[in-house]
Amino acid sequence: MGKVMSDNWCKIYDAANSLEAHSLKGMLEAQHIAVQLSGEGLGSAVGELPANAVEVGLWVRDFQQSSAQRLLAEYEQADQTAWVCTGCGEQNGSQFELCWQCGRDRAAGS
Ligand SMILES: [Zn+2]
Repeated sequence: MGKVMSDNWCKIYDAANSLEAHSLKGMLEAQHIAVQLSGEGLGSAVGELPANAVEVGLWVRDFQQSSAQRLLAEYEQADQTAWVCTGCGEQNGSQFELCWQCGRDRAAGS
């Protein structure tokens, strides 16, 4: 059986909420990876449930799975090394050198 580009989707991630799901989706799509979300949208009745009540699955095509997982791993890595601004206490991703909230330099120290 040869490997063909299939249209099979596989779930690669469970986002904690819709907000995270959409931010990850945007990140992956920026890398030309098609993403579908599951778990939301059943109730388009926005407002009836808190946004974080439902886990949202991220689905990508089989052949893009490894690329997507690598990007997600980088994302999680960045998340783990987030730093806390000594000026305002805001958490910033490791990719930011300045606090996105108050603009304080990461290296300003305490
Ligand atoms: Zn700050």
